[in-house]
Amino acid sequence: MMDEMEAALRRGLAEFDLPEAQVPALLRYGELLLETNQVMNLTAITDPGDVARLHFLDSAALLTLADLRDRSVIDVGTGAGFPGLPLRILEPSIRLTLLDSLGKRVRFLESVCGALGLTDVACVHGRAEEFAADHREAFDIAVSRAVAALPILAELCLPFVKPGGWFLAMKSVDSDAELDVARSAVEHLGGQVYGTRDYPIPGCEVRHRLILIQKCRPTPKKYPRAFAKIKKDPL
Ligand code: SAM
Repeated sequence: MMDEMEAALRRGLAEFDLPEAQVPALLRYGELLLETNQVMNLTAITDPGDVARLHFLDSAALLTLADLRDRSVIDVGTGAGFPGLPLRILEPSIRLTLLDSLGKRVRFLESVCGALGLTDVACVHGRAEEFAADHREAFDIAVSRAVAALPILAELCLPFVKPGGWFLAMKSVDSDAELDVARSAVEHLGGQVYGTRDYPIPGCEVRHRLILIQKCRPTPKKYPRAFAKIKKDPL
């Protein structure tokens, strides 16, 4: 089973032109993910090859689309660590904060970081809209996958980003309408949609999209609002 994960990983990393030196660390992470998933809801993806493709390689694609080297990065709503943890494993110069509102997922992330010796990764149990109070404009880059629709997600993520930094949202290739609706919210929050990059995930037919949003100005102080307000009345 883990052979399937390893083969898919090696093939995909080679296709992305990324080094394969970290494959053993990713395999250990994959093993812990699937083991723990039997007693805790971490992922609906349980086939080892699909874990390699739809979690690890999907996350790794960001390294081919944006420069994350030596950057402070927060992964908002990271769940079982995606995309942040594979990014940090593959690019050790990233200063990573993993944020999730579900304590048991954060404890899982702490155990993975412990097993892999990633002592400098901050695993934070908290809600984005609350953590932002003390970590406003503190990161070069915010990343997020599968957490909320873009107008809501922009309010959760852009306050974390320093002016001049980036918010990178991982979305499906069918996100044109979502992006159009979000443009005014992004601008209101001090950002600007820079562009989109669609990418294939090696070894399968799936294509995903990265939306690149640049932070141009500070986010007005009243954002983010409490989550109930963000949800009820998205920008
Ligand atoms: N990003 C991961 C991925 O792509 O596999 C997890 C996606 S999962 C569908 C959404 C995660 O976002 C959950 O783990 C949930 O606890 C977290 N989440 C939702 N709203 C949040 C918030 N306001 N602040 C922090 N985490 C949040």
